[in-house]
Amino acid sequence: MTKFSDLALDPRVLQAIAEAGYETPTPIQEQAIPEALKGRDVLGIAQTGTGKTASFTLPMITLLGQGRARARMPRSLVLAPTRELAAQVAENFDIYAKHTKLTKALLIGGVSFGEQDKLIDRGVDVLIATPGRLLDHFERGKLLLTGVQIMVVDEADRMLDMGFIPDIERIFQLTPFSRQTMFYSATMAPEIERITSTFLTNPAKIEVARQNSTSATIEQQLVQFTPSRKDRSFTEKRALLRALIRSEGEGCTNAIIFCNRKMDVDVVAKSLKSHGFNAAPIHGDLEQSVRTKTLDGFRDGSLHLLVASDVAARGLDIPAVSHVFNFDVPTHPEDYVHRIGRTGRAGRLGKAYTLAVPSDDKYITQIESLVKQSIPRGTVPEGIDLASEGSDRPQSDRGPKSGRDSGRESGRDRGRSSGRDRRDDNRPRREEKEPAAVEVVAVAEVVEAPRPVREERVREDRPREERQADRNTSDRREERPRSDDRRDRSRDERPRDDRPRDDRPRDERPRDDRRYGRDDRRDSAVVGMGDHVPDFILRSFKLPEAKVEELEDEAVLNSAEA
Ligand code: AMP
Repeated sequence: MTKFSDLALDPRVLQAIAEAGYETPTPIQEQAIPEALKGRDVLGIAQTGTGKTASFTLPMITLLGQGRARARMPRSLVLAPTRELAAQVAENFDIYAKHTKLTKALLIGGVSFGEQDKLIDRGVDVLIATPGRLLDHFERGKLLLTGVQIMVVDEADRMLDMGFIPDIERIFQLTPFSRQTMFYSATMAPEIERITSTFLTNPAKIEVARQNSTSATIEQQLVQFTPSRKDRSFTEKRALLRALIRSEGEGCTNAIIFCNRKMDVDVVAKSLKSHGFNAAPIHGDLEQSVRTKTLDGFRDGSLHLLVASDVAARGLDIPAVSHVFNFDVPTHPEDYVHRIGRTGRAGRLGKAYTLAVPSDDKYITQIESLVKQSIPRGTVPEGIDLASEGSDRPQSDRGPKSGRDSGRESGRDRGRSSGRDRRDDNRPRREEKEPAAVEVVAVAEVVEAPRPVREERVREDRPREERQADRNTSDRREERPRSDDRRDRSRDERPRDDRPRDDRPRDERPRDDRRYGRDDRRDSAVVGMGDHVPDFILRSFKLPEAKVEELEDEAVLNSAEA
C-alpha cells in the first residue's frame, strides 16, 4: 500500500499530513500527486469526499516550496465555484502549509476589497478565489496573472452549472501558456471536455469511481405516511420530523435536515425553533456572514440541527454528523447518496431517515434502482398521531383551533389558498412559481434610473453573462439550474442582500466592460428618460402573488412563535 512518504512530497508537508492524522493517501491522491509533482497537467474526475483538495494542495505546496512571491503576482491560483468551497480550500491550505512560509489570499465576495488588496500587494504564493471576484480584482488593476505557474480549477461541473465557464476561459487566457493546470470535475459534460482539450496539455486523467452506493455504516430508514389531508402534508411532515428527532433521543448528537426547496428550509428551521429545537437554516439567500456563523456553530457543536438545501450543503466538509433527515425525498437520485453520505463517515455509524408521502413513490423507485438496494421501511414513532400533532405550535399552548395551520386554513377558508398549501401536494418543482424575491428585484431593476458609472463596481460570485440575462428575465441563474428544477433552484444560492448591483445605465451594462476594457464604455445619455426620474416611478406597488404568499407564511410562523 502506498504511503504518503512514498510520494516525494516536501517533508514539511508530510509532517503536516501526519499531524492532520492522515495515514494513507486516498486513490485520487495516490494517483494525482506523483503526476502533479512531475509538472504534468492533471484532469481529476472526482467528487467531494474523495480527498481531492489535498490531491492538488499537497503537490502545489511542494512545488512552490522554492521561490518567492512578487507583489501583485500570485504564483498559483485555485478557482472554486462558491465562497464556501473557496474558503474550504483555504482552510486545507492552512493545514497542509503550516510548516512552510508560503502565503495565501482568499478572494471571495462578501469580504472587503481593501483587506484583499493589501495581501495581494504584499505578494502571495497561493491565490484562492471565486471567478467573479478574481476578475473584479484584475479589472481594478490590482492583480497580474502572468506569474501564475500552477492553476487549479475545482468543481468545474458546478462552474458550468453556474455559468462561470466564460469567466474560466478568460482567466485561463490571462495566465501564462506554460502554466501547469490541475482541473477537477465530478462529471465530464461536453462543455467541460471542450475546455479541458483547449487548455490542458496532455493531462494525466485520473478518475475516481462515482459513488453511487451508500456506505454500510449508514442505517437507512424510509418513513412513509399518508397525510390526513393532501393540503396538510407539509404540516404533518414537520410533526413527523419532530417525532423522529425526539425518538432518537441522545443518540442524535447533531443532524442535517435536507429540504428540496429553499423556502421550506426557512420554514422548517423556524418551525423546529418554535418547538424548542436548536436549529438554523442555511441556504444561498442568507448573508455570507450568517452562513459562515451557522456553519461554524454546527461544526463546533453549538448548533444541533442544520436545515439545508442541497446546494448550500454540497461540497461542505462537515465531519461527524450522527443523523441525516431527508425532510423531502430528493428528486435527483444521486442527491440521496450525497445527502446521506453526510453521516456514517470515516467508519462511524450514522442514521439516515427519509420522510415520504405517496407522491414521492417514483423518486424512491429511482433512488433504489441507483443504489441497487431497497431502503428499509421504518414506521411513524409509536403514539404519534400526525393528524392531531400537525400544529406547529407546541402542544402546551395550542388551543382547539389555534396554531399555524388553523390560521392558514382559515385564510384558505376565506377563499384563498396560500403558496405553502399549494406546494403541499408535493408536485415536482418545475411547477413552482417564480421566486418572489427575484420578481421584486426584477421590477426594481426594470425601472432603475440611470446613474453615473460607479468607479468600483462590486461584483461577486456572479457569472458575467448573468447580468445580460437579467435585462430580459427575472429568472436569475444560480447554482445548479439543472433540468426540471431550474426555476426553483435559481433562487437557491445567491445571497439576496449582497447581490451586487450594476449601477451603470442599462444599455451600457452587460456588453461587459471586462471584455472591451473599462475605457471603452460609452457615456451615452439614456434616450427618452432624461437624468431625473421621480421616486414614485421607481416604486412597485403591487407585490407578486408568490411574495404575498411568502409573507403570509412568515406571518403565520411568526405569530406561532410569539
Ligand atoms: P475533499 O474530498 O478534499 O473534500 O476531502 C474530504 C475529507 O477527507 C476532508 O475532511 C479531508 O480532510 C479528508 N481527507 C483528505 N485526505 C485524506 C486522507 N488521506 N486520509 C484521511 N482523510 C483525508
